[in-house]
Amino acid sequence: MRAAQSKLQRLLVFMGSAALFLSSCQTRQSEVADPVETAVAPELGVEPNQMKSVEPVSGPVAIVPLVKSKKPTPKAAGIFKQADQLGARVTEKGDGVWLIEKGERRFELREQSRQAILNGTVVYLNEVFAEKEGNFALSDSDFENTLCPALDPPEIVLRSKTVAIDPGHGGAEPGSVNRSLSILEKDLNLDVSLRLQKMMEENGFKVVLTRYNDRLVPLEDRSQIANRSNAGVFVSIHFNAALNKEASGVETYLLTPKNSASSNDDVIGSSEPSYRGNQTDLLNFELGYRVQSRLIADLQRVDRGIKKARFKVLKDLECPGLLIECGFLSHGKEAPLINTPLYRQKLAESLSHSLTSILMTGRIVSSDQ
Ligand SMILES: [Zn+2]
Repeated sequence: MRAAQSKLQRLLVFMGSAALFLSSCQTRQSEVADPVETAVAPELGVEPNQMKSVEPVSGPVAIVPLVKSKKPTPKAAGIFKQADQLGARVTEKGDGVWLIEKGERRFELREQSRQAILNGTVVYLNEVFAEKEGNFALSDSDFENTLCPALDPPEIVLRSKTVAIDPGHGGAEPGSVNRSLSILEKDLNLDVSLRLQKMMEENGFKVVLTRYNDRLVPLEDRSQIANRSNAGVFVSIHFNAALNKEASGVETYLLTPKNSASSNDDVIGSSEPSYRGNQTDLLNFELGYRVQSRLIADLQRVDRGIKKARFKVLKDLECPGLLIECGFLSHGKEAPLINTPLYRQKLAESLSHSLTSILMTGRIVSSDQ
């Protein structure tokens, strides 16, 4: 009885403290052939300030038992079984919303959607959350590569505390361009990377950049620079542009796991092999979650979520890595903001905070053998 009470109290604290918001993001444009090179972003059609006005998903009211659906889902199947494997609790909240909780992690799913929310941060599933054999369930890939690391964060084991920073594009390849402001993505990427380098070095970490000036480094060389440097983490810095002038916000890309669809693909990539970078799928997720949630909190930008793509720069990494699209140069208000040194300093500070916390909590295992 006492245990039940304290569980309820803890739940109330979580409910009160965690602000969960629904986003109305919808993918409307398929992924271009090589988004890293072209920097053309998928359009999710989110207004810059829309997140502030959406309705909270849950509140204290939500713990009142909801009306059971007509056909109750057997507790031993589907998402119930998947959550049970992780020691997590499932609540069907009605209106197609499911909540899965373990400790301080709250993972919210929406029926027929690829968009989930982990403690307030948007996460894209590899497949829609839909009925399979009569019960709502996550795909095997989403269970393994998303729900597991989301609710049961992996121990952070790194091979070193060296940070590899990759300023996207360079030289003849400008990346995204804002002509009216005369700004090129390659310059902004380098500027943020150099600021981040300084901060991480001041925090006592070794830092390697894939380029230190305005030159083009082939994509495959970038991951090799990180590997040769025995890097513990890899961060590729980019800025976005889209045909949809309304698109804005920050998104973090992880390498798509084996047999999974990338976030901007409609089909499951079953024929895609596993890459070297997939060895750290679980750590990639934890790294991505920490970086993206911190960026959204610090910069107050639209949360475009944690996504998956088979970017060349991530495929051959021997350490956890991610690619961050730090904002849209095509957006009327976001581009001038990005153009200020103050914003770029804040961006680097946010990255420095999350990377430092990851490196400080990480256990280092030498890979010299
Ligand atoms: Zn780019």
